[in-house]
Amino acid sequence: MESFLKETLSYLPQNDLKIIEKAHFYAECAHAYQVRASGENYFSHCIMVAKNLAELKIDAATISAALLHDVLEDTLATEQELIKEFGEEIVNLVKGVTKLSKYKFDDEITAQAENWRKMLLAVVKDIRVIIIKLADRLHNMRTLSFLPVEKQKIIASESLNLYAPFAHRLGIYKWKSEIEDVAFKTLQPEQYNFIRTQWQKRDESNLENLISVENQIKNKIVELKIPFRITARPKNLYGIYKKMQRQNKPFTEIQDLFGLRIITDTVENCYAILGMINANFNLLDGSFTDYINLPKENMYQSLHLTVVSNSNAIVEIQIRTEEMNQRCEYGVAAHWRYKRKVESCEKDDNKNKHTESNLDWLKQFLEYQKEHNEPGEFLKSLRTECSFEQIFVFTPKRKVIKLPLGATALDFAYAVHSDIGDSFMGAKINFKMGTIDTELKTGDICEILTRKNSRPTSGWLEFAITPHARARIRKFLKEQIKKH
Ligand code: MN
Repeated sequence: MESFLKETLSYLPQNDLKIIEKAHFYAECAHAYQVRASGENYFSHCIMVAKNLAELKIDAATISAALLHDVLEDTLATEQELIKEFGEEIVNLVKGVTKLSKYKFDDEITAQAENWRKMLLAVVKDIRVIIIKLADRLHNMRTLSFLPVEKQKIIASESLNLYAPFAHRLGIYKWKSEIEDVAFKTLQPEQYNFIRTQWQKRDESNLENLISVENQIKNKIVELKIPFRITARPKNLYGIYKKMQRQNKPFTEIQDLFGLRIITDTVENCYAILGMINANFNLLDGSFTDYINLPKENMYQSLHLTVVSNSNAIVEIQIRTEEMNQRCEYGVAAHWRYKRKVESCEKDDNKNKHTESNLDWLKQFLEYQKEHNEPGEFLKSLRTECSFEQIFVFTPKRKVIKLPLGATALDFAYAVHSDIGDSFMGAKINFKMGTIDTELKTGDICEILTRKNSRPTSGWLEFAITPHARARIRKFLKEQIKKH
């Protein structure tokens, strides 16, 4: 295995590396002689996807699946063979990623991104599949320039509308920002370059102010005798662009572009630093938000405040612990990792191995939210999105229609348009003829065949379960009775 990959995997127990090495060897052989658009050998892509995930310090099954993520689609490897070699868990992850890449996305669907995201969540069941897909997409975005421009744009818009919001929901801001900025650069190069140039100009002219504020803060924290480090806040050009759009303001009026992030060890010390800044700087009115006491729904925690320095520089400051910072950059996966670290200190080695192998961090994440007694929108929406109570079915033009579980082709016809329902004649499901009562499932492509003189009958009520379709059929039948 490459030494840089081995190094990023050093958080895993030695035993877990065996399966990863096996997956590495298998995928390397399977992809032999395949080449990417960049001219690199194909397997290098799989390694970089695994490395992205290793930075999240995610479990061995996910890393193995990342190395294998393209073998079902792009090589001669078969599912049976993979199950024999790697077992169900890893293969289900690989299958999930393969399934995801079958859903092709185009501009037509951009407007429907939200339905798509829900549909994908309903399809994948295991959130780790989405995270592998995100790591895959991150690497594809980093190497986007090797593709033809038209293809670049399709991938960029898909990434921006479909995948960046996933990264956001999972709290992986680092990936979200990078995916967004590459997409922004690809889709709106002029706006991107404008904001980047403005940013650099302003950064230079403010650098002196920023350094002086930073030094004042540093000196004061040193007096408090607590551990800390200060970093400049990373930029997200697309975020600035969106803010300009949202607030309808030119670049010059967007204020919180410069920021310092102060990272310390404990929550108490976060507040100690806050108190110190409060005593020594002018806080901008209404700028203080306490996300430590009131975390965001994706578990983001930090203190936010904006100060005005003696030289009138406006600086946005974030104060957080190391753990909160990890969680901010790497999302739920980081939380899981910290929790595990604490557990491994508490338990003896044997027990710990057992916990690790059974660890389902999504479950842990949901439990965390329960523990903190704040079910939050994330949990609620994740529950409905993953629940088996709704399905997502495509029209031939790949519009996504949301239906309740058990919905039939007739329900689908009414959901597309009432007139289409009324003149229902038949349905093609995944290009094969179905019947009026065929139950649909998520991912089906359904085409409704109509006939001009086809009309609802009372028998149709047996085949329609959605309130909309049933109401339409009843209304039609009533009108018929009145006429006679
Ligand atoms: Mn890939």
